[in-house]
Amino acid sequence: MSSVASNLAVIERRMAEAAARVDRRADEIRLLPVSKTKTPETVLEAHAAGYRRFGENKVQEASAKAEVLSGVEDIEWAVIGHLQTNKARDVARFASEFQALDSLRVARELDKRLQREGRRLEVLVQINSSDEDQKFGLPPGEMTTFTRELLSFDALDVRGLMTLALFTDDHVRVAACFDVMRDVQRELQDADGGGWEELSMGMSGDFELAIEHGATCVRVGQAIFGDRLDPNDYWPGITG
Ligand SMILES: *Cc1c(COP(=O)(O)O)cnc(C)c1O
Repeated sequence: MSSVASNLAVIERRMAEAAARVDRRADEIRLLPVSKTKTPETVLEAHAAGYRRFGENKVQEASAKAEVLSGVEDIEWAVIGHLQTNKARDVARFASEFQALDSLRVARELDKRLQREGRRLEVLVQINSSDEDQKFGLPPGEMTTFTRELLSFDALDVRGLMTLALFTDDHVRVAACFDVMRDVQRELQDADGGGWEELSMGMSGDFELAIEHGATCVRVGQAIFGDRLDPNDYWPGITG
């Protein structure tokens, strides 16, 4: 077994144990391997272990990998990092999912480009659950107005919410971020009579806690693929 495959097996087991601690079913939680900075060969190791969708935070790097691996019929890409409007066209071409929607400008541009490509995109709205200035994402209080506007974009399948919690060892404060997300999700579900099922939260350092607090998708990079590389070392010009 490759080290990627054995790491995936360990994460799957830890996810199942976290789910069991709070009486949740393991199969309602998806693991999104985050392959940023990693080579296409490394992505293929995870593909061989059964994974089909991979998270990338930079559009240029993601679309380059998507291109190289376009012969792999069932591979899919999730863009999980902040998007500038001028990159929306690229995302509309190759991505299956975008987890970091936080502006109507980007939503409008994505929708327009997707219509042209005849494609659709699963979308999660990014929330700034930690109230840090440097974080992307909408303040929780702005969600209700934002979501009303989102309904007009036909090519966007709005599935739920995403967040990056505080980076700290203080579990209480990290868990507070996750709980903010659950509150926002409940408010939206009450207002809309359902929907918003996806809660993408938790990374290598906090995915178990995130599961205990309601995550339906965890985005795990380093715990699967090891330390991040500088992609320009193996692929000059891949990031820009
Ligand atoms: C890199 C990244 C992750 C994964 O982080 P790890 O600590 O490597 O697990 C998750 N979410 C986002 C948005 C990222 O950019």
